[in-house]
Amino acid sequence: MTGNPYPLGLRLAGRRVVVVGGGAVATRRVPALLDAGADVLVVSPELTPALRAHLDAGRLRWEPRRFVPADLDGAWLVQAAVDDRAAAAAVSAAAAERRIFCVRADDRAAATAWTPAVTRHGPVTVAVLGGGDPHRAMTVRDAVRDLLNARTGRAAAGGTTAGPAGSPEGVSAAAGPEAAPGPAGRGPAAAGSTRGGGAPGRVALVGAGPGDPELITVKGWRLLTEADVVVADRLVPGLLLDELRPDVELVDASKIPYGPSRAQEEINRILVCRALAGKAVVRLKGGDPYVFGRGGEELLACAEAGVPVTVVPGVTSAIAVPAVAGVPVTHRAVAHEFTVVSGHVAPDSPASLVRWESLAGLRGTLVILMGLKNLAAISATLVAHGRPAETPAAVVQEGTTGGQRLLRSTLGAVAQDVVAAGLRPPAVVVVGDVVDALTSG
Ligand code: SAH
Repeated sequence: MTGNPYPLGLRLAGRRVVVVGGGAVATRRVPALLDAGADVLVVSPELTPALRAHLDAGRLRWEPRRFVPADLDGAWLVQAAVDDRAAAAAVSAAAAERRIFCVRADDRAAATAWTPAVTRHGPVTVAVLGGGDPHRAMTVRDAVRDLLNARTGRAAAGGTTAGPAGSPEGVSAAAGPEAAPGPAGRGPAAAGSTRGGGAPGRVALVGAGPGDPELITVKGWRLLTEADVVVADRLVPGLLLDELRPDVELVDASKIPYGPSRAQEEINRILVCRALAGKAVVRLKGGDPYVFGRGGEELLACAEAGVPVTVVPGVTSAIAVPAVAGVPVTHRAVAHEFTVVSGHVAPDSPASLVRWESLAGLRGTLVILMGLKNLAAISATLVAHGRPAETPAAVVQEGTTGGQRLLRSTLGAVAQDVVAAGLRPPAVVVVGDVVDALTSG
């Protein structure tokens, strides 16, 4: 092979790519082709279960037989993902005849195109070719990824490294298409961190997870590291905020000095104003933004002002906090349902939207958030309407954090036990046989 490879970013949306082979190599290569929007045709007598799942979901087409040269008619690119050299050579020859680039899993030297090792950071794609040495490509790729992660503050262990998507082949490094905006199909949230003068701002409603700073999503973390303004709740893990760049404006929503409804209006106003001023705003909320988080109101306020909003779901305390305390919200042969309910309004209050008497008739798991203050009334109401007083109950305070505390009790005794143990919010109350599912027996 003479000459250096010439790096390109192929824009494959709607363009036919033929993958010959339905085994492990094809399984690793197909997702990136689908991500690029390619019209993927797999030619192979067999498919792996993962490829079959793409087929069943309508993401690719399949010819269940051996390759024939006419399969390449109309294709822009072909991947020969077969070990059999003769079969791969036939694909190669048919591709050369049609002037279609051919990636070969079996023989890099015979291929007309090489697959790089890749790492993706929002709209930026870094592709590394290792001079025919896939390990070199991956080593360099890993180093670049760590560098990018360090710059954006992300722990080196994380990242959205793609690959190795089949072994990368070849040499030379190519940074992604800086000139072009993010690939089509990525949401507005994928816009880069460098917003030039006059660029429109945006708001991301990001779920921060239940407390452990590592329980934020990869996407949430990326948006956080790209933010100009972060508006954070009281329940947001402080460590996440520690890592923000010093020039980021941090608004502590819990310190806004009005009553709850005025404070919410003020938060909405801050989100809209900063976004209209061109800032990338992250509204960081404990758990998931839409689980008792008033995220919907913030979305509506932004929408009314014409500000684009991205919602990034989070790991909710309703499921995660019981889980880390050893309580699965469902368990085989124990619970086929779980109900998440807010206990912040007392059952006998006219403002209550919850039919506690109906909940008392359910057999499954009941997860109560914001329920400590009204726990005596809640548990009494549940028992009065038929949930047995001896139903196991657990309370987890500050779950997933270093301050986590767990109390095991029963529905009849839990309110007293919480007071005796001095438990405080934030806490999740779980009622149901799942409380004992992993401990008894
Ligand atoms: N949007 C959040 C819930 C907001 S309501 C989510 O999806 O998790 C606030 C309530 O969530 C608290 O009163 C408490 O009941 C619960 N909660 C949140 N984080 C918690 C934690 N780390 N440990 C225990 N309970 C928690």
